[in-house]
Parts: sequence; structure tokens; C-alpha cells
Amino acid sequence: MVEVIKKIIHNRAKCLKCGDIIESRYRHDFVNCSCGEIFVDGGTDYCRGGAKEFRNFIDMSEYEEKEINGTITRTP
Ligand SMILES: [Zn+2]
Repeated sequence: MVEVIKKIIHNRAKCLKCGDIIESRYRHDFVNCSCGEIFVDGGTDYCRGGAKEFRNFIDMSEYEEKEINGTITRTP
């Protein structure tokens, strides 16, 4: 079995309306762009974002993927 863990490095997004790139840096860091169209929240704990119209929301988050090779069940 292979498990993959996704770690958030940058929780950020771009607003197509005003062109702002916003970033949530910690858990309760709720950030709006300057026109109020989009937001990101959650920092690197969880990735939350939204928009009034989702086509204005460009996800620019960066993830680190880690594979875990373990939890192998063997019958002797
Ligand atoms: Zn905006």
C-alpha cells in the first residue's frame, strides 16, 4: 500500500477581477482580495478558498507530496 500525504506550502489564489494574489499564512488568517471577490483561509493547516463567481478564482496553492511506503501487511 502506498499512501500520499499532501502538505500545503503556500495557500494562495489570484483574483481575475483585480489581479491581486492573496495568501493565507496561518490557520485563522482569512484574507480577501482588494475588490472582495475572492478569499483564502486556513493557512497551511487546511486549504479553504472561495469567490462570488468561481471563474474569478485562480488556485495558486503549492503542495508538497510525500509518498509513504509502509503499512504492508505480510502473512508469514
Ligand atoms: Zn479581487
